[in-house]
Amino acid sequence: MATTETGGGQREIAIVGGGLGGLTLARVLAVHGIAATVYDQEPGPGARSQGGMLDIHEESGQRALRAAGLLDEFRRIVLPGGDATIVRDRHGTVRHADGGGNGRPEVDRGQLRELLLDSLPPGSIRWNAKVSAVRSRDDGRHEVVFADGSTVLADLVVGADGAWSKVRPRLSAATPDYLGVTFVEIDLHDADTRHPAAAAMAGRGSLFALGDGTGLLAHRETDGSLHVYAALPVPAGWADGIDFADRPAVQDAVLAHFTDWSDGLRALVAEADGPLVPRPLYGLPAGHRWSRVSGVTLLGDAAHLMSPFAGEGANNAMLDGAELGEALAAHRDDAEAALAAYEAGMFPRSAEAADGSAQGMALCLAPDAPAGLVAMFGAAA
Ligand SMILES: Cc1cc2nc3c(=O)[nH]c(=O)nc-3n(C[C@H](O)[C@H](O)[C@H](O)COP(=O)(O)OP(=O)(O)OC[C@H]3O[C@@H](n4cnc5c(N)ncnc54)[C@H](O)[C@@H]3O)c2cc1C
Repeated sequence: MATTETGGGQREIAIVGGGLGGLTLARVLAVHGIAATVYDQEPGPGARSQGGMLDIHEESGQRALRAAGLLDEFRRIVLPGGDATIVRDRHGTVRHADGGGNGRPEVDRGQLRELLLDSLPPGSIRWNAKVSAVRSRDDGRHEVVFADGSTVLADLVVGADGAWSKVRPRLSAATPDYLGVTFVEIDLHDADTRHPAAAAMAGRGSLFALGDGTGLLAHRETDGSLHVYAALPVPAGWADGIDFADRPAVQDAVLAHFTDWSDGLRALVAEADGPLVPRPLYGLPAGHRWSRVSGVTLLGDAAHLMSPFAGEGANNAMLDGAELGEALAAHRDDAEAALAAYEAGMFPRSAEAADGSAQGMALCLAPDAPAGLVAMFGAAA
């Protein structure tokens, strides 16, 4: 099978994975005049719907966008008012409401990814490039092996390939564990007109409806639809026993977890448009780290997969990309110094985010929820 040798004098950097983390790294490197190639398994940029809104935190996601020189463009895609929050109990009673303004504006994940993709020099990304392994060679370089058997050689390999990273085994034996919760993703289109009861429950931004160890989390999208996550405390493999092509059957299975919830909240499931999609939640151990291996590192979910309850995963992935890019720019002739500096900052920061995410999940899915979340918002006010 073909081995491609690229470079021509410049250090060859291979970024495996073109999610928010890998793309931020590629962009920050480009800002500093450093070339890199992103390899992604998807057939193209629009291959799959990116789904969902993301709140972009001042201290992480926004910091990364500033390093990428994209903060102004980012502000243009923010959903006005999307950062408002409502917390309800299972009866639909409002227990907390705010209008946002907390430095965490909401953007459409697909638009944010597009912004990063459009900012890269032409030819930076190779689509249809599914990586199966990374092998280190005696000369200190690395062979990136693709599913079709072809390989490329690189001096530096960054695993930005998410939860099931194929680069991670080169550094660590850790694998993600099921966190005991499965999300079912639901969309309600044109919510104000077609789903007024559900839309009224969700408000203009995010909704946390919590109780009995379950939850309905929803947020308003830029196109006026509602994106809902039904959070279910079910065993691993729960979704495998359900035919997700049979929408009424899935709705019944989900609604069985919300039997005595208010009709307005149940409408978030009962009025689903389109297919419902299961997302079992997995995480790496909080504080996951590895010993330095020359020329290889990880960022984002590949390094520190965590529950989404604190909204930290994408924010930290982007900050990882920015900090690694800046470290490589600061140590142009010494990649090992750059990787060591990056990891020294990333390990404790991501451990703290993972702890916060675990606490956030425990708080939201506690038997007496939403009491803890309401108290947290009260304390922050
Ligand atoms: C339901 C849900 C809701 C969430 N909500 C939020 C939120 O509100 N805020 C937040 O900050 N985070 C949230 N997260 C977490 C967030 O989605 C992730 O932390 C973030 O996407 C990680 O970015 P990444 O770039 O590391 O990985 P990913 O986004 O997973 O990107 C990995 C990329 O690598 C590619 N890839 C994978 N394997 C290979 C391979 N073998 N070869 C080549 N390419 C490969 C993929 O195609 C993909 O493009 C949520 C997660 C879930 C599941």
